[in-house]
Amino acid sequence: AARRSVAALQGKVPLPSGPTVELWANAASALEARAAKEAGAFGIGLLRTEMFFLDRGDAPGEDEQADLYAEVLAAFPGAPVVIRTLDAGGDKRLPWLHVPPEENPYLGLRGIRLSLDRPDLLETQLRAILRAGRGRDVRVMLPMVSTATEIEATKAALARAARTLDAAGKPYLWPVPLGIMVEVPAAALLADRLAPHVDFFSIGTNDLTQYTLAAERGHPRLAALADAGHPAVLDLVDRVSKAGQAAGRAVSVCGEAAADPKLAATFVGLGITRLSMGPAAIARVAAALVAGAAEIG
Ligand code: PEP
Ligand code: MG
Repeated sequence: AARRSVAALQGKVPLPSGPTVELWANAASALEARAAKEAGAFGIGLLRTEMFFLDRGDAPGEDEQADLYAEVLAAFPGAPVVIRTLDAGGDKRLPWLHVPPEENPYLGLRGIRLSLDRPDLLETQLRAILRAGRGRDVRVMLPMVSTATEIEATKAALARAARTLDAAGKPYLWPVPLGIMVEVPAAALLADRLAPHVDFFSIGTNDLTQYTLAAERGHPRLAALADAGHPAVLDLVDRVSKAGQAAGRAVSVCGEAAADPKLAATFVGLGITRLSMGPAAIARVAAALVAGAAEIG
């Protein structure tokens, strides 16, 4: 019943005497995007583009990428889709990138650092997103941001991508909203200073937890320590939520913690009304939020 009602409400869960919470979906393929639509997601809150290009020998070109993103967009007509630029590195090694081995890949050249290190790669991806996004509500999101400099450098790359498309006479989406993942503690701590540089924040609790507690994500012996419900992590989530509210920037949570009914309710309590999760969790979280609100209020 919960599944039917979320779908009928198109991902919006109005809480009795509380806010309306939007349930968005994380996706890593067009197939998952279709499952997310089926599950009643409001939109795609995190498209993990690196997952499209794991098993291959060469870099994906602009046309190929534009087609893949268009296929995802086709699953969500009229709805917002947040496309994250490549988050390669860390646990996601893409062989065709030929990143030299690192002692600490999670602290290495990953996410936006890698993209800014390879301007051709970044601009090719941005051109593909801009082309696929034409006439659609597409937003660009950057992974692993630590500083405003990285955001501004990406804006310059976006402008170059647009000029290249102009020169080629290819139509594209403009302007395009630009947001960041908040998953590095420095970004969470300075969210108020980053806010003027972005259109939205999305908190990645998987990496934020790993970096805050210095506990590798997925480490079999550290699961209890790597807890997104740890007060240190919740304190950072609270900061980002407040910074976003003060600056008028939307804040979502797109880490796995958003799929945990208890933590989802905690985030809502911290003022976060946009949660993005794997499609399979949507009905469960919707039901838990409604039940929890009924209990409280
Ligand atoms: C996160 O870090 O919480 C996140 C959503 O990004 P990913 O899991 O893709 O690193
Ligand atoms: Mg992450």
